Amino acid sequence: MLNSARIELHLHLDGSFNLKWAYEKSLMRGVIPAGTSFVDYYNLLFANNAKPHNVSITKFDLTCNILQCQEDLSEATYDLVRRLHDQGIWYAEIRFASQQHQKNGLTQLEALQAVIAGAQQAMNDCPGIRIGIINCMMHKGEDAYSNWEENLETIHVTKQMLGKGAVGIDLAGFENNGDFRAYAPLFQEARDLGIPYTMHAGEMGIGEHVMDALDMGAWRIGHGVNCLQKEEYLSRVLETQIPLEVCVTSNVKRTMNYAEHAVLTLLEKGANVTLNSDNMMFARTNLMNEHAQLKMLGVSDETLLQCTRNAIRAAFCEEETRQWLTGRLNQYLENYQQKEGTEYDTL
Ligand SMILES: [Zn+2]
Repeated sequence: MLNSARIELHLHLDGSFNLKWAYEKSLMRGVIPAGTSFVDYYNLLFANNAKPHNVSITKFDLTCNILQCQEDLSEATYDLVRRLHDQGIWYAEIRFASQQHQKNGLTQLEALQAVIAGAQQAMNDCPGIRIGIINCMMHKGEDAYSNWEENLETIHVTKQMLGKGAVGIDLAGFENNGDFRAYAPLFQEARDLGIPYTMHAGEMGIGEHVMDALDMGAWRIGHGVNCLQKEEYLSRVLETQIPLEVCVTSNVKRTMNYAEHAVLTLLEKGANVTLNSDNMMFARTNLMNEHAQLKMLGVSDETLLQCTRNAIRAAFCEEETRQWLTGRLNQYLENYQQKEGTEYDTL
């Protein structure tokens, strides 16, 4: 079986824990009451699946409440990278929001450095995988201005660690509150500092946000699937070939109807699609599952491979890493063909 599930560009640290680790850590840190059973914890995280999307944000509060010291941030990142490596992932961009980890006095810089340290340690132990860290600005109040200073600091600490583990900026949180374009000066600041950025747009929000993201100079779009709401939005997505970080299972988790997801239309029309897990724990998926689900819907190996090539092109990594990934993929395909279709991997 050809396995081109190798590149993750949209993956949240705080939504991708090992569930058992999260449970034990939550007890240890007093995030859940003593005596809470593993089953109760599981229900707490997943029982709300039928509720509107923004309800699940409270689950991120639950997971973020664990990660309020450097030790936990490093440990969670280390564990995630090891699991990605075990899944056969070659390159991943892991995102988190440094401003969400300051409840016990950490600075944003300390939080970012702890995540980078965890990733670095895992890369030392697993030389087959490379990692970049994306730091998220948060869209959490009524409008862009409610945490303006925190978002500015996110940009500046990311600049400090750019090329030393950090690779870019994102905007995550409540996409629908206030004017999406109010973030433009923040993205301009990131651009002036030479920091690549993506932003969650057209996921739970209207398709027009995808146009706003394009106007604000986004390198890539987080999700972007609601660009199908209007012909003119889709046309611009196709014309610009802006890379879309599509996360199918994460979107369909309430209905599990993969067939009605926008990805099939986007692939058919020739959009620049990359496939991603979003939240491995919350969405109960991983990249291989994303590929497997699309394959069941009739998406060809060739198309899935194209999504991987799109992801290599769209990664915020240095050119050397991009070439390493391209070379590795070509080598893998060559070995695969020589073995006439049997599973064969090369590190
Ligand atoms: Zn996301």
